[in-house]
Amino acid sequence: MSDRVSLTIIGAGVVGCAIAYKLSSKFEDIVVVEKNSKVTAENQSSRNSGVIHSGIYYPPDRGKLKAQLCMPGNEQLYEFCKEFNVPHAQTGKLVVAAKEQELDYLEDTMRIARENKVPGAKLLSAEEAQKMEPNIRCLKAGYFPTSGIVEPTQLIHKLYSLAANAGVFFLTGTEVVGVKPLTDGFEIHTISGSQKEIFESDLVINAAGLYSDKIARMVNPDSPYDILPIRGEAAKFFKNKRADIHHAGMNIYPTPYAIYPNGKKADVPFAEYKKLFTEKKVLKTVGVHLTPTFDLINNEYQIGNLVTIGPATQRVDERENFSENLLPPEHYLEFVKSFFPNLTLEDISLHQAGVQAKLVQQYDWVIQPDEKFPRCIQLIGIDSPGLTSCLAIADYVKELVESI
Ligand SMILES: Cc1cc2nc3c(=O)[nH]c(=O)nc-3n(C[C@H](O)[C@H](O)[C@H](O)COP(=O)(O)OP(=O)(O)OC[C@H]3O[C@@H](n4cnc5c(N)ncnc54)[C@H](O)[C@@H]3O)c2cc1C
Repeated sequence: MSDRVSLTIIGAGVVGCAIAYKLSSKFEDIVVVEKNSKVTAENQSSRNSGVIHSGIYYPPDRGKLKAQLCMPGNEQLYEFCKEFNVPHAQTGKLVVAAKEQELDYLEDTMRIARENKVPGAKLLSAEEAQKMEPNIRCLKAGYFPTSGIVEPTQLIHKLYSLAANAGVFFLTGTEVVGVKPLTDGFEIHTISGSQKEIFESDLVINAAGLYSDKIARMVNPDSPYDILPIRGEAAKFFKNKRADIHHAGMNIYPTPYAIYPNGKKADVPFAEYKKLFTEKKVLKTVGVHLTPTFDLINNEYQIGNLVTIGPATQRVDERENFSENLLPPEHYLEFVKSFFPNLTLEDISLHQAGVQAKLVQQYDWVIQPDEKFPRCIQLIGIDSPGLTSCLAIADYVKELVESI
């Protein structure tokens, strides 16, 4: 590697890899620096629900980026997965209101879907929803046919290999520990094992996920953004165990709700939720849901017998603690029993945990040139639907880079 490169991307999660892939035709010397020893390792991108979102959770009045990039991301992701043989399925999704109080939350979800022009969004009666998923119980449901699932590690690996084959250089097992602005670029300080290196870069893209706030401050100490790590744990059950827990294969979600910082549900009417949310006393979550999941069967990723239940979310201090203090199966049952009543404690086993990079200061993502050093594009707080939107985010970043 030379002492100066055109572009350095910090972080090889799905977003860093998608940006590397999209920009590989524009620059001959791109370096991606990743602190993990491989690209599909411990990060948000490898530990998530794998849901391809349709765009129903992101009200345009609360920030334009999620609303603007989720739907084009959804469309591009299906095309990409088809073209490059990445395991995926357009399963469709039901958002179910199981109690009277949840009907207002459902109406709000339908409103956002209408505002974002989510294709095919439809309100269903209980009977219509149960024709699709016979074991659910609800009063009404929203149906969103463009929702689906993708196998996240296969997606990252494909983006990585396309970028690497196009000449992008991946420095894995290497941590960025300093970014010093120069008059015409940046000096990048790295550590790999005990080896320290310094090289220069004309441009920098911060795609460091859970550490994106820290990288932002290495570039510009006045950067105002902070990451709030939110752990999302998942459990699983095997749908073929009994006919009454058989799952026909859709994404099944409750209506979105609010949780307090300790992970407890704010079981309140919609008007009260809006008040708590405005006062920043609660976080909005898509809720503990059922997702068909890819499994490695005879060396091939297939949708098998496994259904994931999650994420059970709570605020945590550590950004990378994936194993300790896992929530018990009772927690999952509590959240899904109203709409999936036949599941029992014995059916549930624990599955995995991930940590999401939420922004403290705002609901929407930050994707913009740094205010003081605009040759650095900052991507801070890329939480859900970052997986769905990765290719659209990469297009957006490409436009920003072209405008420098
Ligand atoms: C539990 C959970 C469920 C989710 N479900 C969904 C879903 O269903 N659908 C959806 O669309 N999205 C979902 N998301 C969100 C999605 O996973 C993220 O938005 C997306 O993966 C963000 O990708 P990223 O590349 O920005 O970050 P990451 O995947 O976190 O990658 C950032 C990378 O930067 C590296 N890095 C950090 N600091 C440094 C440094 N100093 N030097 C070098 N490298 C560094 C890290 O090691 C990491 O590999 C979920 C997330 C979680 C946690």
